[in-house]
Amino acid sequence: MSRYWEDGFYSQPTTSELKRKSEASRASAEKKGKRLEPVVIQGRNIAKSWWGRAWCNNLERYADYESRLGRGKRYVKTGAVIDLNISKGRIQAKVQGSRKTPYKVEIRISPLSEERCQEILQNCGKRVETLEKLLAGDFPEELKELFTQRDGLFPSSREISFSCSCPDWALMCKHVAAVLYGIGARLDENPSLFFELRGIEMGRFIDVVIANRVEQMLKNADRTSGRTIDEGDIRGLFGI
Ligand SMILES: [Zn+2]
Repeated sequence: MSRYWEDGFYSQPTTSELKRKSEASRASAEKKGKRLEPVVIQGRNIAKSWWGRAWCNNLERYADYESRLGRGKRYVKTGAVIDLNISKGRIQAKVQGSRKTPYKVEIRISPLSEERCQEILQNCGKRVETLEKLLAGDFPEELKELFTQRDGLFPSSREISFSCSCPDWALMCKHVAAVLYGIGARLDENPSLFFELRGIEMGRFIDVVIANRVEQMLKNADRTSGRTIDEGDIRGLFGI
């Protein structure tokens, strides 16, 4: 019997089966004292914030991913991504499939060049008033473009490489696709992970934003009362 049949058979666990197995795998890992960070999707949409939605839209822009993402969506919504960790340039995850043991998925994203990093820092630093705004995705349209345009900050498919421990991963399998969507959901909870993933230190952002803000305040102070600004004022502005 063909491999196709086997793959077809094994690759289509029902939603309830997948849910049950995912819960069993989570319970078994916890029993062993392992701390998992599952992706939990509430409601119909995978992502709700600007960051999460922009991440998912970016994935759907690539023709080479098009036919492969659909099944991943079902997996991530079912709770099959039972563990997902984001670090610099790397995502490690465990995804429940048809067999008992979850599959291991690793996704790598090429780091941004230092040159590109500098450009982004300068562009954002000048136009974002607070880090809260940056993280809320609440910034001018042209900055949104800086992230989402071609060669923007969101990775293109050629910057993404992946592997999965399932037998079917030569092309993007549904486990990898589920993890790619899972990243979007994780960015909803914590957008600063985007900067971590792309290797941009938030501390550098804070420095540029503060430097530009101080410059502005000094200019204003010159024009008005000549009031001096102490560091407390500046830190207060950023809530840090
Ligand atoms: Zn796989």
